Amino acid sequence: MHIITDVNEMQQRCLAAREAGRRIAFVPTMGYLHEGHISLLREGRRRGDLLVLSIFVNPTQFGAGEDLDAYPRDLTRDAEMAESAGTDLIFAPEAQSMYPGGYATYVDVEGITDTLCGASRPGHFRGVTTVVAKLFAIVQPHLAFFGQKDFQQLAVIRRMTLDLNLPVEVVGMPIVREADGLAMSSRNVYLSDDERRQGLALSRAIALARQMARDGVEDGGEILAALRALIDGEKDARIDYLQICHQLTLQEQARIDGDSVLLMAVFVGKTRLIDNSFLL
Ligand code: AMP
Repeated sequence: MHIITDVNEMQQRCLAAREAGRRIAFVPTMGYLHEGHISLLREGRRRGDLLVLSIFVNPTQFGAGEDLDAYPRDLTRDAEMAESAGTDLIFAPEAQSMYPGGYATYVDVEGITDTLCGASRPGHFRGVTTVVAKLFAIVQPHLAFFGQKDFQQLAVIRRMTLDLNLPVEVVGMPIVREADGLAMSSRNVYLSDDERRQGLALSRAIALARQMARDGVEDGGEILAALRALIDGEKDARIDYLQICHQLTLQEQARIDGDSVLLMAVFVGKTRLIDNSFLL
């Protein structure tokens, strides 16, 4: 396994691999790897010939006052975990080489970026789509793997890939959870023991919503009211958004059906956790 920081070297290696007929599988991340990332790498290993992992804490997707500087980083540990999962190349560029002086180009997906995380974090998805478009241009992947943990992000990347005719197959992968139900996230390290326990309200809310849906409750408002009460029962939890949306349009749904996804972002103390699930 090699760790490459230089943009041109990375691009040359990937172009050479493509010319040699190798299928490039790509997993973009911000590092501080956990089993969620590893599940993406394993699928990439299974489906590609050259497995590329990028580790880049992308400054353009963080808003003012967000956790860019505090975001956890540990390249040594990440490299060990990535190698065990069969990674061939890690691309770990510096911010300066991704966005050198004079940088002026951004990719903006309209519509589905206006709601949910897009409404709470203005400019976030513009940063995500810009960096993913750049990474696709550098790595030239045949396949790119993204987690459903970031449900809206996956929808936005699919939209961008389709709209810009990018020759990449975008693959969505299931959410990996801790044994007690908390969705894995690099940001979980911010939680104190007590906050970690309160954070279980998100997966408990999902379980309750799914149970209500199975029991025949079709009124989205009734389900959301029950979840709000559950989450508000935790003293340090503050709901950022809690919505039931159509899986493709991300428009809110009053009545649930087979396309309904429950999406939530909840602050527990200062840490913002996101989670989601289909209801039926
Ligand atoms: P991040 O490093 O948080 O930007 O995440 C990199 C990729 O890993 C994204 O496609 C995420 O959706 C995915 N990911 C993060 N957490 C999980 C998880 N718990 N299960 C599955 N995929 C995940």
